[in-house]
Amino acid sequence: MLVHLKNTTKKLCVIGDPVLHSKSPVIQNAMLSALNLDYVYLAQPIPRDGTHAWLEAAKTAGYVGFNATMPHKTALVPWMDRLDEDAGMYQAVNTVCIKNDGLYGYNTDGRGFLQMLSDAGLSVRGMRVVVLGAGGAARAVALKLAQQGAAAVTVCNRTEEKAAALCAAAPDILRPAGFDSASLRSAAGTADLLVNGTSLGMGGAGGQFSDFSFLHALPAGVPVCDLIYFPKETELLYQAGRLGHPGLNGLGMLIHQAIFALEHFTGITADRAALRKVAEAALRAEAASQEPAPKAPKGENEA
Ligand code: NAP
Repeated sequence: MLVHLKNTTKKLCVIGDPVLHSKSPVIQNAMLSALNLDYVYLAQPIPRDGTHAWLEAAKTAGYVGFNATMPHKTALVPWMDRLDEDAGMYQAVNTVCIKNDGLYGYNTDGRGFLQMLSDAGLSVRGMRVVVLGAGGAARAVALKLAQQGAAAVTVCNRTEEKAAALCAAAPDILRPAGFDSASLRSAAGTADLLVNGTSLGMGGAGGQFSDFSFLHALPAGVPVCDLIYFPKETELLYQAGRLGHPGLNGLGMLIHQAIFALEHFTGITADRAALRKVAEAALRAEAASQEPAPKAPKGENEA
């Protein structure tokens, strides 16, 4: 991708550790370029204990904002001069705008998740949802579901105390449960939607579910959503599809949280459907550029 840089080009980035695998630069640079906005967006590795040092460096270097991924989302909270409602609710920040009058912290993950469901024709009002996991992503999803009128959300997590702590924030809607097969089956039995917010099935070192028998307990046709977007079809989505459950991966959430972040960075209100197409095309082009070139038929290209 070609980004035209000027001395006045405004600087944005994503910080994390690790971060060099991040798709945010591809998505954001493509969207900013399509909007003809003079910004550049980089991936900036920052170690776990470097959150505050980074904030000072970013201000000195003239960054206008940045996104944050693991392990900085929670550590940023105390340094913000203002937090939006979602960042306050999750106690986690994924988008920071550096303005003359201070640091503005936002969290666009939950809105991105909701928009992804909405694109798929799903409304959460009155739904009974099972959320697997109680880490950062699952927390944003569970609290957003509770805020948006889900009837009941069961949070199944390996470390049950973490599920209990998360559910204490909205005890009328959120209910903690374990991650053993019996707990998963019992939760799945009454679900209208199942969301995987664990790292199980993620490309790389995500680990894998030890068994998928809980999927047999899901009522017929219940959608299964995996927040993971690499690989596109996780083993969970594959197994659910074999049983006739529609599947949704996390790409839509990734793109929509990026669009909401771009709106914060630039102050514009975007044509979100058009930007989604721009982001999807950029990701497809990037994936194609990384595929090995087809082998030339024997005899061709030989000196
Ligand atoms: P995180 O805070 O580290 O949470 C990881 C979760 O996975 C925890 O609930 C953890 O349980 C659980 N887990 C890990 N290994 C497990 C195992 N072997 N058995 C059972 N549970 C296990 O990570 P995160 O930031 O929430 O990310 C979680 C996933 O969501 C990642 O795959 C990430 O790619 C995806 N994600 C997607 C988007 C998007 O835009 N689509 C955004 C953010 C994250 P314990 O609490 O017991 O450790």
